[in-house]
Amino acid sequence: MKYVGAHVSASGGVENAPLNAHKIGARAFGLFTKNQKRWVAKPFEEKNIQAFKENCEKYGYKAFQVLPHDSYLINLGHPVKEALQKSRDAFLDEMQRCEQLGLDRLNFHPGSHLNQTDEETCLKTIAESVNICLDKTSGVTAVIENTAGQGTNLGYAFEQIKYIIDHVEDKERVGVCIDTAHAYSAGYEIKSAEGFENTFETFDRIIGFSFLRGMHLNDSKKAHGSRVDRHDLIGIGTLGNEVFVRLMNDPRFDNIPMILETPDENKWEEEIAFLYSSVRPG
Ligand SMILES: [Zn+2]
Ligand SMILES: [Zn+2]
Repeated sequence: MKYVGAHVSASGGVENAPLNAHKIGARAFGLFTKNQKRWVAKPFEEKNIQAFKENCEKYGYKAFQVLPHDSYLINLGHPVKEALQKSRDAFLDEMQRCEQLGLDRLNFHPGSHLNQTDEETCLKTIAESVNICLDKTSGVTAVIENTAGQGTNLGYAFEQIKYIIDHVEDKERVGVCIDTAHAYSAGYEIKSAEGFENTFETFDRIIGFSFLRGMHLNDSKKAHGSRVDRHDLIGIGTLGNEVFVRLMNDPRFDNIPMILETPDENKWEEEIAFLYSSVRPG
């Protein structure tokens, strides 16, 4: 079974996210549990938590169909001690917010070395950050999103993600989300049938499908290997429709949240309908 949705707005209260998802025919959704451009957010009130849970129940969203995304400010591999601590505190807060909402996973961008340290040190720091936050929470998996490799962002190569996983102590609570636009920009050729097979065979060999906890479905405005992160509407960008049709017909991507982060929210309903219509019977 495929669970496709979009990264919906939670403005006005976290309980609005499942409503916004339901309105567009989504069977999964992504959200920010706080303002993603601010460091600090006020804690949830009990009434918000209850309303969120009620709306999820009402519209049929279980924890495995929801993929929260952390703040863009967080850098769990930050080379400077004070800034690293700030990121770790913010990430822990986000994991705790997921815990409060009864959610079981939190998607994050691994981190950036900012040309102030080497890649390996940065990857180890990221794993250590994850270990610290997992120690203080329960039931929430840290989901590493692959990146386009823009700037000094790490996590663009499957080997880097594998390195982080290897250094996380609790393997039950670490996972991966593959963003199609990021993978393509990072140099993974997922557009052709052959490229798709090769890429996911490589993914399985290096990381393993057992770690896959979500997908971000985005076309890309930028060329293969450009290392630039710009999402486009499904079928409109440099990737085109075919990769998404393949994903929708591949059982390796069953039973995980598949989240659109495409740039026009007015198109999400149509994009979700297109993706479901591309599932071949049988
Ligand atoms: Zn992301
Ligand atoms: Zn993404």
